[in-house]
Amino acid sequence: MSKWPLGVFASIDAGLGVHLEVAHELGVPTIHLHAPKKQSRAPERAAEFTRQLKDLGIEISCVFAGFEGESYADIPTVERTIGLVPPETRAERVAELKEIADFAKLLGVDVVGMHLGYVPHNADSSLYQEVLNVTRDACRYLAANGQSLHLETGQEPADVLVKFLKDTGCDNLFVNFDPANMILYGAGEPLTALELIGPYVHSVHCKDATWSDKPGETWGAEVPLGEGAVDMAAYLQTLDKIGYTGPLTIEREIPQEPARQKAEIGKALELLKSLKQRAGA
Ligand code: MG
Repeated sequence: MSKWPLGVFASIDAGLGVHLEVAHELGVPTIHLHAPKKQSRAPERAAEFTRQLKDLGIEISCVFAGFEGESYADIPTVERTIGLVPPETRAERVAELKEIADFAKLLGVDVVGMHLGYVPHNADSSLYQEVLNVTRDACRYLAANGQSLHLETGQEPADVLVKFLKDTGCDNLFVNFDPANMILYGAGEPLTALELIGPYVHSVHCKDATWSDKPGETWGAEVPLGEGAVDMAAYLQTLDKIGYTGPLTIEREIPQEPARQKAEIGKALELLKSLKQRAGA
């Protein structure tokens, strides 16, 4: 595939992201796919999706796992409910993550992405060790499937994330870099973070946001690409600098307003096309 193929976040059932038909209408060659619900993860459905995607000329570059009970309502709720960090749901979620990985394998996809949750900043805490262990367990399972795990950025400052990645010792654990999340969560200036995390960045989201007036305490706001605090031209330059050539996947989560969502993604695609051209890609 050529450098920086464009993509969108998409779903095949009631998940976030645009529907496959919309991705096709937008003319993108790649998608990140929200893992469908359990009942849609049967082998015959995988075969059906694979046929459909082939007809539409779309390739899945990453299947994103999400779980029942997760809520992004505000930062404290994220801390309490997201990913493999909360102890109460960890065992059932890691089991489901493995099921999602198996489904991704049926789709021929070798990357599974997810929000791990808030990695504790204190590496001496027992929770940190628990999160290390569950991540290793997931990575071992994915490795046997020939897959990698990509952690979405946002909750951690770059140095905390890099330390965590190193501490796992997993060689199939990478990062899905989302510049807007760094801003939304108040986790640090995104392009500085991108350079620091650089060697681990194996997929990216193109999303934009504005800073909260209380970074880290309250959310910033997600806004259409090019209207927020992410300098998109500089983002592409930094991706170039770290040697990233994979898909540029647009994420715009306003599924309750599908028409506006499609229009904004359309504009985002135009912006990325012109920036790519300027960057000589
Ligand atoms: Mg994202």
